[in-house]
Amino acid sequence: MPPNKEQIKIPITQNCVFAIRLDTDTEQEYILIGELQEVQRFLSGVGNSKLLVNKRRPFGSFILECSTPVANQLADVRAILADSIGKRKSPYFENSKEILEDLWNSDNLIYRFIAIRIWQEYEKACNIKNYDLYSEVEKISLPLMLNLTNDIKTWQENDPQNPLYQLDSVYFSDPALVLYSAKGAQEYYTTNDSLFPIIVYYLKTVYNERTYIQSCKLCGKLFRANTANIPTLCSPECKREQGKINKRRFDEKAKNTPSEMAYKKQYMFCYNRIKKLRKNAPDTELLAEAEKMFKAFCKEALRLKKQVQSGKLTNTDFENWMFREVMKFEELLENM
Ligand SMILES: [Zn+2]
Repeated sequence: MPPNKEQIKIPITQNCVFAIRLDTDTEQEYILIGELQEVQRFLSGVGNSKLLVNKRRPFGSFILECSTPVANQLADVRAILADSIGKRKSPYFENSKEILEDLWNSDNLIYRFIAIRIWQEYEKACNIKNYDLYSEVEKISLPLMLNLTNDIKTWQENDPQNPLYQLDSVYFSDPALVLYSAKGAQEYYTTNDSLFPIIVYYLKTVYNERTYIQSCKLCGKLFRANTANIPTLCSPECKREQGKINKRRFDEKAKNTPSEMAYKKQYMFCYNRIKKLRKNAPDTELLAEAEKMFKAFCKEALRLKKQVQSGKLTNTDFENWMFREVMKFEELLENM
């Protein structure tokens, strides 16, 4: 039974390809997704072409997309689609379609390609007897089933000079097609199937530039960095966030220093005495005098506390000063 083409809200294709060009000079990557002949038409610059995706973005985006895990979802989809050929459709089948539609509607271009390609395989399987849909879908989705983040880290740690020597043979078992643009003969590495050769091309370009793939020490995302083994941050956003965290840590530490604790103790003592005075003797000269003294004490104490923190004053001297001031404060209040 041929599938109803209106059933799924993703583009139906015959031979959809994923093509990528890396420009290390401008730090950009260019991605094209569409039928092979449309991509060829686009690159030849002759006539109108209908691409599904034509996107330029910062170099590094592809590897980040590759390492976002959707393994469980893809494993479910693969099993359910393979089990649905020529049978009455179960609710799980509808659910699988929704997963593919979500992948197609996401911003992740690899998800988008994989969603289209999986559905393309499904349609093929509906028309070809004994088609091994399970294996085909497995091949397409395999890069997203692996933990590429950890793998890349291990390769770079084990062999920082030649990380590519660490790759498993599965990475080298599929071909990639190289298409050239008529304008400047720019190279587009293209696949209609496994993304492994694209990943190899990508990593090779990164390492040839003497850069590495690192995961950000704050958000964990993969990005292109100049060093392999020194933990760094991926973006201005993460750098700002790290600055805030460092400041918070510093403040937290400063809160628990002896000078801070001693100040807090004396502050609370005076504060409570004033509170009591406000209740028992409001609008008196004494209250005004005490408040003035308290304010002056706080101002000077904060100044001296900073001197302790910067090492200009000892904590003992600071505490002795506070003690003397609080004694004066108490003497004043005894005149109540
Ligand atoms: Zn980050």
